[in-house]
Amino acid sequence: MIKVEHLTKRFGDVLVLRDINTEIRKGEVVSIIGPSGTGKSTFLRCLNLLDTPSSGNISIDGVNVLEKGANIPKVRQKMNMVFQSFNLFAHLTVLDNLTISPIKLLGVDKKSAETKALELLRLVGLAEKASSFPDELSGGQKQRVAIARCLAMDPEVILFDEPTSALDPTMVSEVLAVIRRLARNGMTMAIVTHEMDFARDVSNRVFYMDEGLIYEEGTPQQVFENPQKAKTRAFIHRIRSITRHITSGDFDLYALNAEIEHFCEKQFLSRSACHNLLLLVEEVLQLYLPHIEKSAADLSIDYSEKTGKLELVVDTDVNTGNPLAHEGDDIELQLSLIRGFSESIDYQVVNNRGRLSVAVRKV
Ligand code: ADP
Ligand code: MG
Repeated sequence: MIKVEHLTKRFGDVLVLRDINTEIRKGEVVSIIGPSGTGKSTFLRCLNLLDTPSSGNISIDGVNVLEKGANIPKVRQKMNMVFQSFNLFAHLTVLDNLTISPIKLLGVDKKSAETKALELLRLVGLAEKASSFPDELSGGQKQRVAIARCLAMDPEVILFDEPTSALDPTMVSEVLAVIRRLARNGMTMAIVTHEMDFARDVSNRVFYMDEGLIYEEGTPQQVFENPQKAKTRAFIHRIRSITRHITSGDFDLYALNAEIEHFCEKQFLSRSACHNLLLLVEEVLQLYLPHIEKSAADLSIDYSEKTGKLELVVDTDVNTGNPLAHEGDDIELQLSLIRGFSESIDYQVVNNRGRLSVAVRKV
């Protein structure tokens, strides 16, 4: 239904969309997730031509909408958009908000426009508010009116740009429920959202946007349960992390400790978690010293806001073998310290590179 090829968009010198290629099929629900500033809104705005793409092709039902002479109002009607900030007409009643565009732009007569508007208000649960003004509604109600108004234009596709971001948390679910209902009715939709659970259960496909691209895409299961790329993974698991490249045994441990403490404070980690982490870093690096002398190591601290897991990860260019699995009395004390301050220890070899992950005990 919608085909996008090599879409780019630049604002001045800044290339916001680098190369977007995708197709959205009839009846599909696509969720678009990703960090802010990665061009998600710009992508939707380019789709319905609120922003003019810098290059590339967009076709709807086989018709190239970027060609000169394309009917832009028609495109916007086919791909109607719901915004974060509702954008209702404040001086019009709810009913008039729904009827004004069909009457003025589609030439629908007043009576049929009103009949349809009432039907749509019923669909979003707001028939009794038909003669209210937007000011008299809660945020959740306003957004439901905005959705009904969008539907009044008989769109083939609805583009939602963070429809619940401006809402009180208590009102999020009433709006999501309406969008779920549209999904069940077979509406084609592209939804930019930060509501991960919603994205997961409402969509057929998920796009993770980053670096001006659809950086990774797949079914909700693929993207949420088994993301393939590191950036996607970090975003999904809400991982905050610091990484330091260590090339010699003479690295500045005090500076590293200070950075780690700062990181812990920023993530609101408890004092004991931070204390355990610092000890683990020191002991683990001690065991890695012979390897670091030969080849470098990357030390990362990963903290998942989602799961609360705090991990110390050491990546090496070569398979060092698990330094914590060596036998010998000389390191027995160190090993028992490390075991005491950690919850689990895992060593994996991937493509001949070694990765030690130590989950830090947080109490
Ligand atoms: P997202 O929706 O993913 O948060 P946006 O599409 O809003 O990202 O913005 C992507 C980038 O494009 C941002 O760096 C933003 O500052 C820039 N941008 C968006 N709109 C404009 C504009 N009209 N003029 C200049 N820069 C813009
Ligand atoms: Mg945005």
